[in-house]
Amino acid sequence: NSEDVYSEMEPMLNRIESQRQELKRQMRVLADNDRMRREFTANITHELKTPLTTISGYAELIAGGMVADEADLRDFGSRIHREAGRLTSLVNDILTLSNLDEAERTDSENSADVLGSTEPVDVPRMLESISQRLEQVAKKADVTILLETKPAMVVGVPRLLDELAYNLASNAIRYNLPGGSVTLSCGIDEGEHPYIQVIDTGIGIAPEEQDKVFERFYRVDKSRSKARGGTGLGLAIVKHAAVYHGASIDLASELGMGTCITVTFPVQELPEL
Ligand code: ADP
Repeated sequence: NSEDVYSEMEPMLNRIESQRQELKRQMRVLADNDRMRREFTANITHELKTPLTTISGYAELIAGGMVADEADLRDFGSRIHREAGRLTSLVNDILTLSNLDEAERTDSENSADVLGSTEPVDVPRMLESISQRLEQVAKKADVTILLETKPAMVVGVPRLLDELAYNLASNAIRYNLPGGSVTLSCGIDEGEHPYIQVIDTGIGIAPEEQDKVFERFYRVDKSRSKARGGTGLGLAIVKHAAVYHGASIDLASELGMGTCITVTFPVQELPEL
């Protein structure tokens, strides 16, 4: 009778229903990915166009013989130079992110081709080098860089680990206040996990912004970011570089007080030397 038929069919109907739910979920993920990709492309186009418009505007004036004054000529030249520098940073950041995306989609053998090979990295030495490279920028902003490093090694892609820490340190300086400080520290925590920590005494990030700042091209204050040479991609690179190394990111911040970002790596199995 019909009840028997139904009870026989029930498991099958349940299976079909759960497959239908799973398909719906996958379609939502795909639609989300597609929307994000379209937004990213639109953003890139806008970000590239802005400096290009400035460059071609000044170049046109110079080429048309409209700039007679020597001082004006120099001024325009240095503006063109600055905008070209902005374009270079932007293109480099876009390339790094696209390589990280590619690596996340392919297997580990291929990702070494895209991102570079993995090797043990001496974290204190890396932070020292970053501190030196940022010395002039920090001096200009009247910010002191402090180093508090304990021995730590991470097996990873050297260029990416450098970029991760550099971006955090550079933000800590750029979103600081005159007379403020930035502390770069590293070590091994109680759980044997190596970590990198960047603490600043800067402007801080409001609680509702704390997740968003890791999104591509998201800026709390667009004009401040641009005036200080930001591409809006720094923390997106930090996030993806952390994921690539199996690390987690912890952000603690208070408006007007400062920000502390900690990147914690998995327990390392260092190769025998
Ligand atoms: P940007 O190139 O704009 O600095 P990021 O992706 O590095 O891009 O950072 C995104 C935004 O997060 C910044 O525009 C800034 O508003 C905010 N931010 C990042 N780091 C800090 C910090 N240490 N203190 C305060 N705000 C920060």
